[in-house]
Amino acid sequence: MIKYVLPLLFFLMPACRDAAPAYLQLEGQAQGTTFRIVYRDSLERDFSKPVDSLFRLIDRSMSLWDSTSVISRMNRNDPGAVADEHFTAVFRRSREVSAATGGAFDISVGPLVRAWGFSYKKGLPPPTPAQVDSLRQFVGFEKIRLENGILIKADPRMEVDMNAIAQGYTVDLLSDFLRAQGCRDYLVELGGEVRTAGKNEQGEPWRIGIDKPIAGDTKDRPLQTIVPLSGQALATSGSYRKFVERDGKKYSHAIDPHTGYPITHQLLSMSVIAPDCATADAYATAFLVLGLEKSAEIAQAQGLKIYGIYADANGGLQVQSTFEGR
Ligand code: ADP
Ligand code: MG
Repeated sequence: MIKYVLPLLFFLMPACRDAAPAYLQLEGQAQGTTFRIVYRDSLERDFSKPVDSLFRLIDRSMSLWDSTSVISRMNRNDPGAVADEHFTAVFRRSREVSAATGGAFDISVGPLVRAWGFSYKKGLPPPTPAQVDSLRQFVGFEKIRLENGILIKADPRMEVDMNAIAQGYTVDLLSDFLRAQGCRDYLVELGGEVRTAGKNEQGEPWRIGIDKPIAGDTKDRPLQTIVPLSGQALATSGSYRKFVERDGKKYSHAIDPHTGYPITHQLLSMSVIAPDCATADAYATAFLVLGLEKSAEIAQAQGLKIYGIYADANGGLQVQSTFEGR
C-alpha cells in the first residue's frame, strides 16, 4: 500500500509577461489516496522533496498501514512507543472534537473499525451482536490518555485509529509549510480534504467541488456543487463511496461509537468548512455519525459551516446547508 514516489511537478501557467510568478502544481499519491498542491512561489521552487518528507513524517506517526509507526506500536502495547508532536497534536484535537460532539468522534474506535473490516484486515465476516457488545468495552475516549507521550489505556486491548483526522491534519501541515516558505496563494488537497489561501491562477477565490454522493468508481465524479474557498478548509465524509460489503449488505466506514455499528441513516455526505482542515475533517466524520439535526446545532455552536446531502423517501438527493455553492 505505501508506495513512495516523488510527487510530479509541473507549471500550471507559464510565467506571464508581467513576470508574475507561475502557479506550480504537485501531484502524487500519499496516505492511500491522491493529493494535489497548487502554489504560487516568487522563486518558483520545486517543493516535491519537502512535501514528500512531510508525508513520511505523518506516516511514521499515525499510519496503521506501517507496522513500525508510533500508532501501530502503541496499539501493540510496545513499551518504547512515544508520541511525537504530531501524534500529540492530533490526540488533543481529537479529544476536543469528541467532547464537542458527545463522543460521536472517537479515535478509540480502533477495535470496532477492525472488526467491521475497514482497516487492514479485510474479508472477515461481519461481527455478531455479541462480538460488537464485547468490543465496546475497549472503546471510549475516557479510557485512554497521553501522559508524557505514553498512551495509557484502561485495557491493553484498546486501539487508536486517527484515520478520520490525520488527512486533514496533514493538509494543515502542508499549508503551514507553504506559508512558512512565503507562499500566500495555494491550494492543498489530500483525498478530498482541502485547504486554500489567497487566490487561484485566475486571480479569483479557489473553487472546490463537492461530489454528488453516488456510489461508483472514482474516475467519473459528477459534482453536487462548487464552493468558493479562500483562507479556509473544507472536508467531506461520505457513506456512499467508502464502505465494505458483507453478505450483500453495504456498511459505511463511519462507526457510531455509542452503538458499535456503522451508521445506517439517510445522510449520504457531510461537508464541513472550518478555519483549519483537521477540524473540518474530524467534524465531517462526527457529523456523518450524528445526522443532520444534531450536526446543525453543534456546527452553529462551534462556528462551523456544513453542507449535508441526504436521500429523501423517493431516493432523490436533498441538500441542507449553511453555506451556498455555485
Ligand atoms: P474519509 O475522509 O475517507 O471519508 P473519514 O474522515 O470520515 O474518511 O474517516 C473515516 C475513518 O475514520 C474510518 O475508516 C475509521 O478508520 C475511522 N472512524 C470511523 N468511525 C469513527 C468515529 N466515530 N470517530 C473517529 N474515527 C472514526
Ligand atoms: Mg474525517
